[in-house]
Amino acid sequence: MPTENIKRNGASRSWRDNLIDIEPYVAGEQKRSPRLVKLNTNESPFPPSPLVSKAIEGFDAEILARYPDPNAKGLVRTIAGREGLPEEMVFVGNGSDEVIAFAFKAFFNSGLPVLFPDLTYSFYPVWCRLHGIPYEQVPLNSDFRIGQEGYARGNGGIVIPNPNAPTGIAEGAEFFGRLLRANTDSVVIVDEAYYGFGAETILPLTRKYDNLFVARTLSKAGSLAGLRLGMGFGSPPLIAALNAVKDSFNSYTVGSFTQCAGAAALSDQAYYDDAAAKIIGTRERFTAAMRGLGFSVLDSSANFVFVTHPQLGAMELYEWLKARDILVRWFASPAKASSHLRITIGLDSEMDALLAAIEEYMQGKEI
Ligand SMILES: *Cc1c(COP(=O)(O)O)cnc(C)c1O
Repeated sequence: MPTENIKRNGASRSWRDNLIDIEPYVAGEQKRSPRLVKLNTNESPFPPSPLVSKAIEGFDAEILARYPDPNAKGLVRTIAGREGLPEEMVFVGNGSDEVIAFAFKAFFNSGLPVLFPDLTYSFYPVWCRLHGIPYEQVPLNSDFRIGQEGYARGNGGIVIPNPNAPTGIAEGAEFFGRLLRANTDSVVIVDEAYYGFGAETILPLTRKYDNLFVARTLSKAGSLAGLRLGMGFGSPPLIAALNAVKDSFNSYTVGSFTQCAGAAALSDQAYYDDAAAKIIGTRERFTAAMRGLGFSVLDSSANFVFVTHPQLGAMELYEWLKARDILVRWFASPAKASSHLRITIGLDSEMDALLAAIEEYMQGKEI
């Protein structure tokens, strides 16, 4: 009698009571409408490099009948060559979300709390809960910057995006060098999802600190959010642990098609440098215009800005813009985010449309 056995073991009678009870990450809306000005999930407004289109057109669908190379060796070799690192220091995955989720599983097993800022990428607490990893959130300083102090204690690991999201504020290699010197007993993950928009990379420090792991993605500056390709860099033992986790979930995380298109994107740095320069130019222009309207705008090194206005409710403005087909991101929590909007930097024309709408809104409020 299986039911009785289960009861004797203390489990619940109904399968419904045994489903996972977890609060998942809530992704930004992927609303589609031809008129939509989509500035809510930090995608690039530019298409991927023309070399990606060429690779896709030349891709032989017959290849898809077979499983991909589970270790994506060709792609790993390309990335390693580009960054001047040995292949044993490179990992690739199905988006950097997967890379970082595997990293939590692979690196954070001490039982001590993992530390990350109290205003940061909201997937970090979700992965901790999924994997059963204790965590503590370290308050940002009053100027929304990350301080060293809160991290100078025993921990099971540290995760920091650089630049941080949603603030857009970046710290330099000196900051991370200091953090790493003060923290040699656990792994430090630096999430460089927004690398390419002006922040200094700390990738070279992976040679010096064997407990440093750097994650990157092609989803933001690479204009390939739909392809799902992420990567990570760290010492050979870190990469070996990641591969062990990957091969315990799914050996074939990166498909043949993604390997092919991703390699093409990585071979056209000039195209992406040009696209990033345009986005940075638009960001600076938009930041100045918003400050002119009385908004406070944090200095961003990413492709988004984090803004607030002393006389405007952020949620109200978000709803008003959404009703006019302009989508930005508003976070209901934590409290220190809910008075702000995170706005992705799109095309000049899109930012102009947003500015005009905000001016109209403010006129209606007589501000
Ligand atoms: C967008 C983002 C990622 C994940 O990107 P993928 O599309 O999964 O590669 C990771 N970290 C931060 C901070 C991000 O904003």
